[in-house]
Amino acid sequence: MVSRPVMGIVVPCYNEEEVLPAAREALLGQLDALISREAVSEGSFVLFVDDGSQDGTWRLIVEYAAADKRVKGLKLAGNAGHQNALFSGLMQARTISDCTVSIDADLQDDVAAIGYFLEKYAEGNHIVYGIRKERGTDTSFKRNSAQTFYKLMRIFGVKLRYNHADYRLLSRQALDALELYREGHLFLRGIVPLLGFRSAEVYYNRLERAAGVTKYPLRKMLSFAFDGITSFSNIPIRLITYAGIMTLAASVAAVAYVIASIAAGSVVPGWTSIMISVWVLGGLQLVGIGVVGEYIGKIFMEVKRRPRYVVEAFTDDKTNDENGREF
Ligand code: UDP
Ligand code: MG
Repeated sequence: MVSRPVMGIVVPCYNEEEVLPAAREALLGQLDALISREAVSEGSFVLFVDDGSQDGTWRLIVEYAAADKRVKGLKLAGNAGHQNALFSGLMQARTISDCTVSIDADLQDDVAAIGYFLEKYAEGNHIVYGIRKERGTDTSFKRNSAQTFYKLMRIFGVKLRYNHADYRLLSRQALDALELYREGHLFLRGIVPLLGFRSAEVYYNRLERAAGVTKYPLRKMLSFAFDGITSFSNIPIRLITYAGIMTLAASVAAVAYVIASIAAGSVVPGWTSIMISVWVLGGLQLVGIGVVGEYIGKIFMEVKRRPRYVVEAFTDDKTNDENGREF
């Protein structure tokens, strides 16, 4: 354990120009407080990762980096998605820090908790999870969908920390281990508990988004949840098998019933039952094919071994011009 660790705060940013000034102020303020308390070393920094924003996010990051050496910026060539952007920042920060804290740009996660993260780190924990105490400030839709997501994940056997998002501290050793996870569909919340290492939890209050709008519309949320389940669990595919077995058992009973009816001489050509069979079986088959297809799709993506992100620029590389435009 390092007595005064170099800490990197990694912040993925996608079209966050509205909230970035406030985020910079809050994070640097927190960093200053921690440095003066001698909780972290003076070389500690904030690393903003621009996840292919279309607005002025990168311009602001370059400006901040030029004005203050505690600010660094990493620009991805395109929108790689929250998890990949976060991962790219963690891998960049890992080489120049003892531990990293990941936090969203919108300041929904209370920055004051970082001090407690560091206390737990000093006690020898390699992973410190930030756990939300309550979700009072989220919309009820967001809250309910998130709760359903956690419940569903538990049913599907994925071990997640309840109410933990991506606000956490990771030691350099934990990050070294994280790098070994080569899967294409990154779902950090599911992977981090698999790393092992001693871990601790810190509770904090979830705040409202400081500015701007959510970058997680329903479409992205659903795909995030879907990825979480299909990347970590084969239970959906097993459910289809169970459904198949039950359908088979039911059809045995149906055949017995038909034979009995024939024996009783009361057979009426049944349009209804045929229609029901066609629809029910057709539906079951389609669902089954869909789930199998989902896994095959994943295999397809995995075998391609595509890079998860492409770095376009890093503010510490001295190849940029003053405005940072010609990286
Ligand atoms: N984000 C990103 N890439 C994306 C979507 C989001 O880097 O494609 C970042 C975003 O800038 C923010 C964090 O991920 O810092 C979480 O997004 P947001 O706060 O919009 O999600 P919510 O809190 O509404 O779930
Ligand atoms: Mg948010």
